[in-house]
Amino acid sequence: MIPYGRQDVLQADIDAVEKVLRSDYLTQGPVVPIFEKLVSEKVGSSYAVAVNSATSALHIACLSLGLGSNDWLWTTPISFVASANCALYCGAKIDFVDIDPDTFNMSVLHLKEKLERASKDGCLPKVVVAVHFAGQSCDMRSIKELSDVYGFKIIEDASHAVGGSYSDKLIGGCEHSDITIFSFHPVKIITSAEGGMALTNNHELYQQMSLFRSHGITRDPKQMLDRSQGPWYYEQLVLGYNYRMTDIHAALGISQLSRLDDYVAKRNQIAKSYGALLNEFPVRVQRNIDLAHSAWHIFVVRLELEKIKRPKLTIFEDLLSHGIGVNVHYIPIHMQPYYRQLGFKVGQFPNAERYYSEAITLPIFPTMTVQNLETVIGSLREALGL
Ligand SMILES: *Cc1c(COP(=O)(O)O)cnc(C)c1O
Repeated sequence: MIPYGRQDVLQADIDAVEKVLRSDYLTQGPVVPIFEKLVSEKVGSSYAVAVNSATSALHIACLSLGLGSNDWLWTTPISFVASANCALYCGAKIDFVDIDPDTFNMSVLHLKEKLERASKDGCLPKVVVAVHFAGQSCDMRSIKELSDVYGFKIIEDASHAVGGSYSDKLIGGCEHSDITIFSFHPVKIITSAEGGMALTNNHELYQQMSLFRSHGITRDPKQMLDRSQGPWYYEQLVLGYNYRMTDIHAALGISQLSRLDDYVAKRNQIAKSYGALLNEFPVRVQRNIDLAHSAWHIFVVRLELEKIKRPKLTIFEDLLSHGIGVNVHYIPIHMQPYYRQLGFKVGQFPNAERYYSEAITLPIFPTMTVQNLETVIGSLREALGL
């Protein structure tokens, strides 16, 4: 089976992990702060908070922005459920903005219209989560302009986009946002097994997220409400969680980070080959906006079903039976039973639903060979009946 994505773990990664296992600290040692420093230096953010997943990072990001029970969070329906669940963890209300059918990202046009309506109705969002789908940045300049008018905070969910850039700057520098989230799950660009990070340039948000990561506890006398009672003393200031990353995971992350540029270059090469090879196929690929350089976490094609005359399910099953580990990213979040139970209806976000009816994710990963690529293209040709 050629998987849709696959991590690349080398001896150097294993050695780095082993070194931590033989050291004094497995967690809360020196390695996590080094990982944070290396990532924030790389992407140009002032601060970084490493956590045990991007899902946790989204949660503490929302908490630090003060998202609560009377607030709205908006995101795209074409994302992993975590991009929306973070609102519900905070007791906030969730809504979606339909996608642009060409970039597959949140449509700025739809966002603008929805904000105009919400402004009249007095239900503007407190937070907008912009998901950089497949590794391509959203139109962040336009989203930032809208936030300046309507006053919402911006979280970039860059789980797909570690190593991608926007206007010649690596994603994560938060030039157009309050907080950026990375995921280091093995299917993503680099991995720490499980792991995530929240990046920001705002010191207060950094302090808040650090508190929420670890039980709401501080050992910093400057943050304490009472005077320190001795060297053992700590204070719990808010209701936090245990969302910490271990030093073992951070060591893997650091080792992988040194190969980030190579991975993104290789993914771009594969995406470019796909683009050329699929040129004559009855499929649409993601349109790339001028300012964005994608990290290419996934490679999605939209089947032009009116030309193909075979159902998506048959094509998908054909590809699977040929050993092509295709997938679908994503089932629109509002169509999940849990979200329908909250009141969302099929038909509410037609661009996202149409996208879902056509989308198939083809394999892309840095160790993918030219032969793998040819196998995928050959099998797709057959599955489409060409
Ligand atoms: C993978 C992913 C997440 C969650 O990442 P974890 O590290 O597995 O928690 C969140 N948002 C998006 C868009 C993702 O793809």
